[in-house]
Amino acid sequence: MLAQRTLKSITRAVGVGIHSGRKVELVLRPAAPDTGLVFRRTDLAQPVDIPVLPTSVCDTRMATTISPGGDPGAPKVQTIEHLLSACAGLGLDNLLIEISADEVPILDGSAASFVFLLQSAGIERQNAPKRFLRVLKPVEVRRGEGKGLMWAKLEPHHGYTLSFEIEFDNPAVAATGQRTTFDMGSGLYKKDIARARTFGMTADIELMRSRGLTLGGNMDNAIVVDDYKILNADGLRYDDEFVKHKILDAIGDMQVAGHPLLAAYTSFKGGHALNNLLLRELLKDETQYEIVSFDDERDAPAGFAELAPAW
Ligand SMILES: [Zn+2]
Repeated sequence: MLAQRTLKSITRAVGVGIHSGRKVELVLRPAAPDTGLVFRRTDLAQPVDIPVLPTSVCDTRMATTISPGGDPGAPKVQTIEHLLSACAGLGLDNLLIEISADEVPILDGSAASFVFLLQSAGIERQNAPKRFLRVLKPVEVRRGEGKGLMWAKLEPHHGYTLSFEIEFDNPAVAATGQRTTFDMGSGLYKKDIARARTFGMTADIELMRSRGLTLGGNMDNAIVVDDYKILNADGLRYDDEFVKHKILDAIGDMQVAGHPLLAAYTSFKGGHALNNLLLRELLKDETQYEIVSFDDERDAPAGFAELAPAW
């Protein structure tokens, strides 16, 4: 049986939210089979649980934000995508994530710190079959037109691959690879994807700051690019770090489905909003997907039965 996974022990992290600038503590706890990934706001008079589900998503403008039932007036947790990406990359199904504020800490701006934390706590197989969401029909969403066109699609595939293309006019970004493909079954998530950092353009950062956003952002947790060059003294971690971060984000955003996907994901200039729209488009029609598990690990796609750093 290809089994569900949780942590072996409790682990903690302290940091700041990139948008709120607020200090926050995370406590990651093992959870029973079929719990899924659940956030718990522990700073409120009554703790509030927010399950990671597509219907919990209430905002996708700067980051992926969830609240109970997607209610915009309810307690929230924002910027969940990098932690979820790490959970997906390590094949974690069940986790209780206690959080002391409304934003996941940005740490180094990538998923690498979360991967390190989760691996240090250890990963345990549970006595329940791991469930996947298998895409049965192609599903696509589009926004804009001409230079503003962006799209994302899911197609049936026995495995999980992600392809992404970005198209930035900025010469510093354009000089890097703007298209890449990643296969989750390769076992290379930690090495090839997890270290890619979030990024911002100086002009956008000034605008966002004026609106009270990215208050916790700096060159220790983001790549910062002006009109011509990368400002971080150490440069990039990967030659194509920008588009790799978009893959990292997409893995986190797709994990909001509640189960890892069996599909080929492709996006052109997409982001959190389009990713959530794609999930909702997939899930609105029950003939477009099915939930599957593998009684015999050998029937699973190549690489999926390995313990961390693969599935
Ligand atoms: Zn990101």
